[in-house]
Amino acid sequence: MEQKTILIWFRNDLRIHDNVIIHEAVRKNARVIPVYCFNPYFFSKTSIGTLKTGSFRTKFIFESVLTFKEKLKEIGSDLIVLFGNPEVEIIKIALHYEVNDIYVHQEVAFEENNEMQLVEKALWKHRIPLTAFIGHTLYHKQDLPFPIKDIPNVFTAFRKKIEKETSVRQEYPTPEKLSSPTIENRFDLPTFEQLGIIEPPSIPSNGLNLKGGEAAALARLKYYLWDGDHLKNYKSTRNGMIGSEYSTKLSPYLALGCISPRRIYFEVKKYETTRVSNDSTYWLIFELLWRDYFRFMFKKHGNRYFKVGGFKDKVFSFGEDQEVQFASWQQGTTGATFIDACMKELNATGFLSNRGRQNAASYLINDLKVNWTWGAMYFEEKLIDYSPSSNWGNWAYIAGVGNDPRENRYFNPLKQAKEYDPEAIYTQYWNNL
Ligand SMILES: Cc1cc2nc3c(=O)[nH]c(=O)nc-3n(C[C@H](O)[C@H](O)[C@H](O)COP(=O)(O)OP(=O)(O)OC[C@H]3O[C@@H](n4cnc5c(N)ncnc54)[C@H](O)[C@@H]3O)c2cc1C
Repeated sequence: MEQKTILIWFRNDLRIHDNVIIHEAVRKNARVIPVYCFNPYFFSKTSIGTLKTGSFRTKFIFESVLTFKEKLKEIGSDLIVLFGNPEVEIIKIALHYEVNDIYVHQEVAFEENNEMQLVEKALWKHRIPLTAFIGHTLYHKQDLPFPIKDIPNVFTAFRKKIEKETSVRQEYPTPEKLSSPTIENRFDLPTFEQLGIIEPPSIPSNGLNLKGGEAAALARLKYYLWDGDHLKNYKSTRNGMIGSEYSTKLSPYLALGCISPRRIYFEVKKYETTRVSNDSTYWLIFELLWRDYFRFMFKKHGNRYFKVGGFKDKVFSFGEDQEVQFASWQQGTTGATFIDACMKELNATGFLSNRGRQNAASYLINDLKVNWTWGAMYFEEKLIDYSPSSNWGNWAYIAGVGNDPRENRYFNPLKQAKEYDPEAIYTQYWNNL
C-alpha cells in the first residue's frame, strides 16, 4: 500500500509525549509534515481594545514552538512554522507536499473551532480531508458517564459521578522516530513586531519566570513532585501567593499542551504508591478535573460563556463610571492595596495565583461594578496560561452567571488580605516595585 502523507497541524498540543495526533500518524506508518501557524487573528485587538495575546504569552509561545521544533528534529522530522491565515497558509503546504489528510486536535471554544472550520472548508475544495482528534482533557469525552448535554451544571455532581464510574485512559507512547520528507525550512518565528506585540520587560525577582516548552514542562513536574517533594503539602499551600512552590505552575504548559494532563495524573499515581497518598495528592487531580469540567461545559453551553448574562441570563447594573474604574483596576491603582498588588503582579509577570485571580475578579465585579467580560478580556491578554474555557469559565463562575450554585460569590478584600497575606509582604512587594 502506498505510504500516506499526513500534515499534522499543531495548535495547543506542543509535545511529543501522549499526543494522539502524532500517534495516529505513526500508527498509519505515514510520512508526516508537522506545521504550526501563527494566526494574526489571535494577536489582534478585542472589542474593548485589549489584545487577544499579550507580550508574556507571546514570548512563552515562541519558546514553546522553538523547543518543539528542536524536539521534532531530534526524532527525524521538523516543524514548518507559518505566519498568516491558516486557511491560506496551511492549504499551500498541504498542496505543496500533496498530503492525503490533515490531523488536528479538536478545541472547544468558538474562535478556535472557527479557525479549524475555515481550514476544513478551504481543504474541501481540494478534496483533502481534515480529521480532528480529542486529546486535551484528563478524561476522554467518550468515557464520560453522561452525554455532554446532560453534564450537570454543578461541579460536585459531575465530579462524584466521574470519580465513581470513569477511569483515565493510558497515555499514548512517545514516538522515537518520525518519517518525514525533506522539509524546506522557511523561518523559525515571526518577530514581536510582525505580530504587533511589544516585547515583554524582564520579570521582577519575586515574579514567576517560566520558560516555555515540553522539556521545561516535564522538568517542572519532576521538580514539583519528586525533587522538591512539594506535592505532599499541596492542599495546604495551594492558596499561597508568594514564590513558585505553593502550587504546581503547570497551567501555562497545560494551556499550550506542552504537558498532557494524563502525564501529570500518572505521575501523581506513581507518587502515591512510592511516597505518600494523602489529601494533597488527591487535590491536584481534583483541580485537573476542574479544568476538564470547564472544557466540557464549553462544549455544552458554547458561546453563552462569553455573554454578560452567561447561561443564567442574569441582568447586571453596572456603575456609570465603569471605564474609569476599569482603568484603575487594570493599572492597580484602585486604592485597595491587596487588589492593586494582584494586578501589578499580573501586569509585571503574566501570572497571578488562583487566590489573587479570585479576589481581583470579585473586586471588579462586586466592588467596582464593572462588566465582568471586560475583566475576562483583560486576563485573556495578560495571562501566560490563558485558556478560553478556564478563563471564561472561572470569570462566569465568580460573576454568578456560570457554574456556581451560589448567585453571588463575594471576596472581601480586607478579610482576604488578612487571611492570605497577614504580614502584607505580598501587598508591599508588588506595590513598592
Ligand atoms: C478569574 C480566573 C481566571 C482564570 N483563568 C485561567 C486561565 O485562563 N487558564 C488556566 O489554566 N487557569 C485559569 N484559572 C484557574 C487557576 O487560577 C489557574 O489554573 C492556576 O492558578 C494556575 O496555577 P497552577 O498551575 O500552579 O495551579 P495548581 O493549583 O497547581 O493546579 C493544577 C492545575 O489544575 C488546573 N486548575 C487549577 N485550578 C483551576 C480552576 N479554578 N479552573 C480550571 N483549572 C484549574 C490548572 O490546569 C492547573 O495548572 C483562572 C481562575 C480564575 C479565578
